[in-house]
Formats: sequence, C-alpha cells, structure tokens
Amino acid sequence: MVDIYPTKCNLCNGKVAYISNDMIYGRKYGSGYCYYCTSCGAYVGTHKPWPKKAMGILADEEMRVWKKKCHNLFDPLWQGKGTGKKRGQLYHKLAVCMGIPVDQCHFGYFDLANLKKAYEILMAWN
Ligand SMILES: [Zn+2]
Repeated sequence: MVDIYPTKCNLCNGKVAYISNDMIYGRKYGSGYCYYCTSCGAYVGTHKPWPKKAMGILADEEMRVWKKKCHNLFDPLWQGKGTGKKRGQLYHKLAVCMGIPVDQCHFGYFDLANLKKAYEILMAWN
C-alpha cells in the first residue's frame, strides 16, 4: 500500500521532510505543501483539501516525465466527455489491464516500472 504520510523515501530510503512547496516551485502551488526527500530530492505533492495527505509516492525527474506521458495519453480519453464517470471507467479498465486493484490505480501511485507498463497499455488504446 502507498504510505500517504511518508517519512522514508520510497526511492532511496532517505529521510522525508514535509515542506512548503515554494521551495520547489518558487511559489506556493496547489495545497502549498509537499513531501520532499532530503537525500535524493524526489518529492510528491499533497491534496489541496488535505494538505497532509500525499498524492502518491515520491517521484524523481524520470518518474515525473513518464507520469506526464501517461497523462497525455490517458486524459484526452475522458476530458470533455461529460461526467467523471468516464474517467472512473477508464481507471477501472487500466486497473484490470495492469492486474491491480482499482483503488491503487493512480499514476501517482506507480513506480517507474509500473508507469512504463501503463504507458505501453495506453499506447495500445490510442
Ligand atoms: Zn530519496
């Protein structure tokens, strides 16, 4: 399971600090906070209404690139198509393809290997 209150980095086991995210973005963004690894610099944002809850696992630059590539394929499949129902259905379909429970099927929860796997699956849908 994903630890949404991380204290240890999922990439390097380093110490994770809860910091104001203007230290990363140069200004406060979203919830205003993030979890940041003091060893390798990986980080993850938090939810705006619940600024202590991480959106997923800590990600490094490479993971952020792959996450973006996945969203670029995934989001147009549901964006502008009415309700959030379509989005839910797509996450469900992706979870089945990945062989994981749907409640763990979020790009923010995927490690590098899973991001690449999701990308391959999404490529086949497009
Ligand atoms: Zn780290």
